Amino acid sequence: MKQPSWLSSQAEEISRHPCYSEEAHRFYARMHIPVAPACNIQCNYCNRKFDCVNESRPGVVSEVLTPEQAERKVRGVAAQLMQLSVVGIAGPGDPLANPEQTFDTFARITKVVPDVSLCLSTNGLTLYRNVDEIIQLGIRHVTITINAVDPEVAQAIYPWVVDEGVRYEGREAAELLISRQLLGLEMLAKLGILVKVNSILIPGVNDHHLPAVSARVQELGATLHNVTPLIIAPGSQYEADGRKAPRPKELLNLQERLGKGGMKVMRHCRQCRADAIGLLGQDRNSDFPLEAMEAEP
Ligand code: SF4
Ligand code: SF4
Repeated sequence: MKQPSWLSSQAEEISRHPCYSEEAHRFYARMHIPVAPACNIQCNYCNRKFDCVNESRPGVVSEVLTPEQAERKVRGVAAQLMQLSVVGIAGPGDPLANPEQTFDTFARITKVVPDVSLCLSTNGLTLYRNVDEIIQLGIRHVTITINAVDPEVAQAIYPWVVDEGVRYEGREAAELLISRQLLGLEMLAKLGILVKVNSILIPGVNDHHLPAVSARVQELGATLHNVTPLIIAPGSQYEADGRKAPRPKELLNLQERLGKGGMKVMRHCRQCRADAIGLLGQDRNSDFPLEAMEAEP
């Protein structure tokens, strides 16, 4: 059978993405652009006064840019930061809950800096509806945060989701979110998109369940599994519940166990902000103020 053409390019794409390749993170930089303020679900560890905790850390609020400002900023950063290989949208809310801003921004970036890879991070609720747009824009890396594949577990993480104006709660919300996440993952993986799954390790809620998540997402074609420790946003439900972050050893043990299950496990995630710029671990956003970026090329 003839090998699909995208298969041969995947290794090259992985080798230039600082999150997908531990080696690449020493040489290649990423830039997150905060153009997506709204969200369509509630996670119990999140407080929407801060950045989306699925791909970043709470305690900070990224200044939201318009697509025009984002284009200006990307052009300016690309001219100065030679290591830039990836531009992503990860918040501060859910990029696909803001599809116009997100896709308008990506379309502008492909024109301004055609040689960078595009990366999108989402909770996955509306992913299946956006697959065509993702393919057309040439987005090759998508991260989905999947914390559970069992609605019983997911109910303790997500109190509600809103889809097409309808609010779902409890088990119904959990079932809808999980089915959409897995559908989106499967659709993208079949089309050759590199899908990373993020899971947040929440002691007492999904710690025992994450091996099952890993097995399921591997089955559906995920390239990489990134488990990060719970960081509880101030004012969130989990703070009120008195939940605690896992100990470093718990995370290490779990990563080890998932790796033995055959899944490629990311171990160098830095839980970056939704506006982070630079090598992983660096945050050089303040080195590139929007005011200093020229309006026209
Ligand atoms: Fe917060 Fe992100 Fe969850 Fe939305 S998806 S509630 S922004 S952590
Ligand atoms: Fe990469 Fe983790 Fe930072 Fe996302 S939060 S850009 S996966 S290092």
